[in-house]
Amino acid sequence: MRDEALLTVDKISVAYDGSNALNGVSLSIRKGELICVVGANGAGKTSLIRSIAGIVPASGGAVKMNGVDITRKPPWEICELGIAQVAEGRQIFGALSVEENLLLGATLKRAKAERASTLESVYGLFGRLRERRRQLAGTLSGGEQQMLAIGRAMMAKPEIVMFDEPSIGLSPALTDVMFGVVKLLHEQGATILLVEQNVAKSLSLSNRGYVLENGAVVLEGSSEELLNNSEVQRAYLGM
Ligand code: ATP
Repeated sequence: MRDEALLTVDKISVAYDGSNALNGVSLSIRKGELICVVGANGAGKTSLIRSIAGIVPASGGAVKMNGVDITRKPPWEICELGIAQVAEGRQIFGALSVEENLLLGATLKRAKAERASTLESVYGLFGRLRERRRQLAGTLSGGEQQMLAIGRAMMAKPEIVMFDEPSIGLSPALTDVMFGVVKLLHEQGATILLVEQNVAKSLSLSNRGYVLENGAVVLEGSSEELLNNSEVQRAYLGM
């Protein structure tokens, strides 16, 4: 693992109609790390992912990828630099087939040449998607749609994958499957930013974590430290 950060978020703020959703949030991710950002509804988790992805503009602060300032770059350029996201609510194209959705993930320059082999590796991970590759994505089950969203992000050959609440709307059994996939991707070498309300599960998977409350980081540390922190236990783990 290299010492320097692959992604650095430096005092990022985001405001909607003048009210702040993020107030100077800082974090960093090194290559190969799995870090999580945990917090309750409305803490600002989605805003953080969207500001890194260039979808909502930061009103202050900076985001750097490999030392390059990407704060004001458009979303497509940020994707091309290797940051992919699996959005909350999945955002797949329901009227297209599973395979068409996957191939859309590989339209970036960085991914095009290898798209056949990447498709094979996505089907290797999700046999269910291979079986259903001609099915319209809108008719997939919730769990299958989540697999498709992850597969599409992988098709972009990203350096970092950001997951926005991958367990949302899934049954406990499927939640376990989804966290298993995140763990597997990490073990295969992916660098992952996981944003979750499921504090116990995401801290148990990750190397380090940040606790976000009202748009600010209130605690950070190794996942083990956070799991043993009495405030985290009281506020998020029901202990
Ligand atoms: P959840 O877990 O419920 O998805 P979150 O931690 O992802 O929440 P955000 O979606 O980032 O939180 O929202 C942070 C705050 O910003 C909330 O108060 C939300 O109402 C507000 N907000 C988010 N998007 C917008 C928007 N487009 N316009 C106005 N306010 C917004």
